[in-house]
Amino acid sequence: MSQTFKYCPRCTKPLAMGAVDEGPPRLRCPDQACGFVHWDNPVPVVAAVVEHEGAVILARNRLWPPKMFALITGFLEKDDPDPASGVLREVDEELGLKGRIAGFIGHYPFERMNQIIIAYHVVAAGAIVLGEELLEYKRVPPAELRPWPAATGLALRDWMLGRGLTPLPYENEALKAIKNFRLIDDKLATAGQPTAEQIRIVRASGYQALINLLPADSRSAVAAEAALAAEQGLRYHHLPVAWEAPRAEDFARFCALMQEEAGRRVFVHCAANKRVSVFVFLYRVLKLGVEREVAQRDLLAVWEPDAVWSGFIAESLKT
Ligand SMILES: [Zn+2]
Repeated sequence: MSQTFKYCPRCTKPLAMGAVDEGPPRLRCPDQACGFVHWDNPVPVVAAVVEHEGAVILARNRLWPPKMFALITGFLEKDDPDPASGVLREVDEELGLKGRIAGFIGHYPFERMNQIIIAYHVVAAGAIVLGEELLEYKRVPPAELRPWPAATGLALRDWMLGRGLTPLPYENEALKAIKNFRLIDDKLATAGQPTAEQIRIVRASGYQALINLLPADSRSAVAAEAALAAEQGLRYHHLPVAWEAPRAEDFARFCALMQEEAGRRVFVHCAANKRVSVFVFLYRVLKLGVEREVAQRDLLAVWEPDAVWSGFIAESLKT
């Protein structure tokens, strides 16, 4: 979504797509003598996890929607001697704080904006005075951070992991809007049938694998879900489970899939999260050793299993 040009900034002729040597087509000036090419390289942006009196400062830009907070960021300036100096300048401009670099976190692509984010841990002290780009800020104890699964959120996540902290699962309003959505932990979420648009949101929220327990002929099923998932780069598994007759083999296959996806962020759905909540309850109790009361809380938050499914639970717990 980077800004593009219509006219040559050198000679004002209209630009057109054209080959440049062996490379991909570029927006370029048709005038050979001028030779301008719009390379559209990513723009370097510096970002800071600002630690201030033991908390991390997240800020909201004037242009952002309510409740959207992120790290302190800014474009690397021509006069910045290096990215680390650039990030300290931004912290000063936006928070009014003199900081020091406590460490380099990493660099992160932000494709949508055609930026490359260079992230640092900055420790700062003193009174915060917001610069004009920012509307508000909040202080979050490090252990309570919920890193968002894109752009500077990835840097925040790595910073937390580097300190031995476990990032809390990220819940956004769009995910919570999926029918009977229930977040189990940092790696696992469950729900009823997501719409085609919500499957995109699942991917955008950082999930890597989608497991579907709903038979394809169900009224709630979304046509071509496998293709939609593939298009989004989601690993997809379809394991249809009959509503009236769940089988031990189904559950065994589900456990095998969960094993296969271990380490990835997994989203499991059926029609209304009823089948799924039972399978996930059993999986956590029988395979992960989660306390029954804890796993049951997530199950009962979705529904109270009927005769068929209570029977299935009792049978499964016996073995
Ligand atoms: Zn030109």
